[in-house]
Amino acid sequence: MSRKSWIFETLCKSPTDLDTIVEQYELTKFRTEYTSVGVKYTYRCALYKRFPSCAMQLQAKQLSMTDVDTFEISKFGKRDHEKRALTTRAPSPIRDDVKTYVAAGLSETQIRRAVTIDHPQWAAQKQVRSLVGYYRTKNHPSSFSLSDLRDWCIERSQTPAHTPTESDTPFVLYSIWHTQITK
Ligand SMILES: [Zn+2]
Repeated sequence: MSRKSWIFETLCKSPTDLDTIVEQYELTKFRTEYTSVGVKYTYRCALYKRFPSCAMQLQAKQLSMTDVDTFEISKFGKRDHEKRALTTRAPSPIRDDVKTYVAAGLSETQIRRAVTIDHPQWAAQKQVRSLVGYYRTKNHPSSFSLSDLRDWCIERSQTPAHTPTESDTPFVLYSIWHTQITK
């Protein structure tokens, strides 16, 4: 495991100085450690959920037991607020489409298919599913269309010869009957 190399940044002479730096870099404290000479704080990006590629970390290390105001500040990683997380929210054209499809009474499978055709770059099916659920409960608290039920059954249908291996997986059992007519 490689050790992180912290690069010396500056020396803080007061807690206010430290607060200013933390604020300036938009950081949040995530670790507090105690060393032989005092306390050591580690900060990371306060917006890391929105910017997962932001690797910026800051460390504030008390230098002497007798001096509680002086902290050595070192930096690690690069601040990167260029790439936003894609998963936080579906773009609004997709939200609008899903809303329309739900109002038109399309099944979840049909909606997912339509969204994939209209927005091929948008492959986050899980999000479409949650949007469908959201707009459905908003308009009709307990609606579940017949075609949803049919799709659900087809997805989970199993012949007796192919029973699911996981015991908590829901499945629909069906059999094919062969009728023999004897004369
Ligand atoms: Zn950041």
